[in-house]
Amino acid sequence: MAFTVAIDGPAAAGKGTLSKALAAHFGFAHLDTGLLYRAVGARMLAGVEPVEAAQTLTADDLSAPNLRTPQVAEAASKVAVIGAVRAALVDFQRAFARRDGGAVLDGRDIGTVICPEAEAKLFVTASPEVRARRRWLELREGDPAADFETVLGDVKARDDRDMNRASAPLRPAEDAVRLDTSDLGIEAALAAAIKVVEKRYRSAR
Ligand code: C5P
Repeated sequence: MAFTVAIDGPAAAGKGTLSKALAAHFGFAHLDTGLLYRAVGARMLAGVEPVEAAQTLTADDLSAPNLRTPQVAEAASKVAVIGAVRAALVDFQRAFARRDGGAVLDGRDIGTVICPEAEAKLFVTASPEVRARRRWLELREGDPAADFETVLGDVKARDDRDMNRASAPLRPAEDAVRLDTSDLGIEAALAAAIKVVEKRYRSAR
């Protein structure tokens, strides 16, 4: 049986951790769709034209070692405004979403554009300051000189680009359940998300 969980929201809201844990809880497959845009962004930084990079993306590109760097995140959000880049990635995401056995996809436009028919939709948010702090703490492990104000500026710039682009802007689907993780620990956020999905899953079976 196919069952799609769509999880959208801005950078560092906790989507990734939540999606992975939800997929493990229900035994569903998980796709971090940001990785597709990061892989295209990384190829652009390596000199490949972005639309061509999206059309010829391979599994190897998705395991490139530099995909989690701030430079690649920035490049990802730049290629993500290009309609033809987004179009090239649609079929793969939809096929993944409808695979047998259930799937969790996290990104920016899963509930609105990729899977408007998803059985369960969550929109995960947190304030820019809380999200920047989480990113900053992560970055500081590798770079003790990482500056909070710079990270906050990057988070806000990426939000602005993701929310105001013409093609598939970041916004909650009308039927998405909102989950604000600003003051929630991961355990509490996961418990709330499981509740939402469980209810839909029971009625779909
Ligand atoms: O989620 P992550 O931070 O890895 O995504 C990197 C960038 O890719 C985002 O800032 C966004 O611009 C883009 N993206 C997107 N649509 C998705 C997933 C990511 O536009 N479904």
